[in-house]
Amino acid sequence: MIETDLKEVRKTLGEISDLNSSLALLSWDQQTYMPPKGAVIRGRQQATLSALAHQKFVSEEFGEQMQRLHDRKNELSTDDRSLVEVSLYDYDRAVCLPEEFVEELTIAQSAGFEAWVAARKENDFTSFLPHLEKLIDLARRKADYHGYEGTPYNALLEDFEPGMTAEQLDRIFGELALRQSKLVERIAASPVQPDTSWLQREWPKQPQFDFARLVLQDIGFDYERGRQDLAPHPFTTSLSAQDVRLTTRISSEEPFSCLTGSIHEGGHGLYEQGFAEHDVRTPLANCSSLGIHESQSRTWENIIGRSLPFWQHYTPQFKQYMGEAASGISVEQIFRAINRVSPSLIRVEADECTYNLHIILRYEIERALLEGRISAREIPEAWNARMKELLGIDVPDDASGSLQDIHWSMGMFGYFPTYALGNLYAAQMFEQVEKELPGLWSEIEAGQFTGLLNWLRKNVHLHGRRKLAHQIIEDSTGSPPASGPYLQYLESKYGSLYAL
Ligand code: ZN
Repeated sequence: MIETDLKEVRKTLGEISDLNSSLALLSWDQQTYMPPKGAVIRGRQQATLSALAHQKFVSEEFGEQMQRLHDRKNELSTDDRSLVEVSLYDYDRAVCLPEEFVEELTIAQSAGFEAWVAARKENDFTSFLPHLEKLIDLARRKADYHGYEGTPYNALLEDFEPGMTAEQLDRIFGELALRQSKLVERIAASPVQPDTSWLQREWPKQPQFDFARLVLQDIGFDYERGRQDLAPHPFTTSLSAQDVRLTTRISSEEPFSCLTGSIHEGGHGLYEQGFAEHDVRTPLANCSSLGIHESQSRTWENIIGRSLPFWQHYTPQFKQYMGEAASGISVEQIFRAINRVSPSLIRVEADECTYNLHIILRYEIERALLEGRISAREIPEAWNARMKELLGIDVPDDASGSLQDIHWSMGMFGYFPTYALGNLYAAQMFEQVEKELPGLWSEIEAGQFTGLLNWLRKNVHLHGRRKLAHQIIEDSTGSPPASGPYLQYLESKYGSLYAL
């Protein structure tokens, strides 16, 4: 019986994984090569496949098979036990939402997205307001269906960062907001500011793409198991560990956004390529949490890709690729320019020092919305006031203020903290990497990245979904997630860059 159930469960999970990979491919194609008129039918193809995947997943028989296996989990191998636990957890979360509710949510999300696109373009918060109110109401109801302790926010956070709670976030973010905004103030007041006037040149596009490809290859991205293409909004998608698709965009006004964006997506890609081979076509070949996923991209993009040793190695090659445009540029100039701190309105353009402050603002607002402490109508006012406090910036209009992000329009409340957690996890793990691999920075200066990649493979990638984020952090560093290592990293790096 146990063998039959296991065989059936594995078969169903494999089929669901095939459907989901096919969906991922359709969506990748939609954002890269699909001709514009393909959109309508593409939408239907995606709807059909996702309905099939959902039906397979929530079937009663499948649920019973998993439950029977769970009841006898002590007789299962460690791998099978993890597989059953993770799948049953997903199953329970999926079936506790009534079908009418899911349908209502899907309709509200797509209407909300349409309304948001128009509202942002017209800078008209009021036209988006009724949609936002509806989505907040649905988020509260979703939290009720899932059940929660403490705040309803916890039930939503669980979708993106399983095991994390708002109470923990308060503790972690509290210190972060204080020390990070103080650091930003001190940087602004410093007489030492980088010269970035040399960036105002025309930067050739193809060499930027080719240079990024070279760097990705060096850090370990396997082009036999992945590729990189252009897309208006860069993302990474994975069909399996054997087929990981990165995307990037190139600007001729700026020589580093293609590179740093590519390294960021490459960090996500290395994680996806690093899942264990025997987990293929199962939910175990998946990220532990979005925060852990983001920690991989931030490690490579920021800690490595914006470091001095990295540029000591790559400056000659960068200059070779860019030719005339990069003549007369030094390592020091590049290092200072790519680490320039400048508080700005837009989250996705924010530098390392200000980024988390954008996230804390969103976290505070979305949690207050869920708890009914503020209403949707009051968002712009709360937003603008907090921007002033945290970043010292006046917000001129809602399009560059509270309407800038897509997340709330899609009903994604509880997503934002994962970006900041990614930064924190990255720094905390990297502190440990430096202890365990004392020669690391000289390796990087020599263009060698296998030491770091192997550490990440062993401590993060190979576990897939077997461990929760806080377990990955605790097992690899000996301490629970905290903001200390990130603050130390920032204060030391920027303290020396800006002579604080
Ligand atoms: Zn990312």
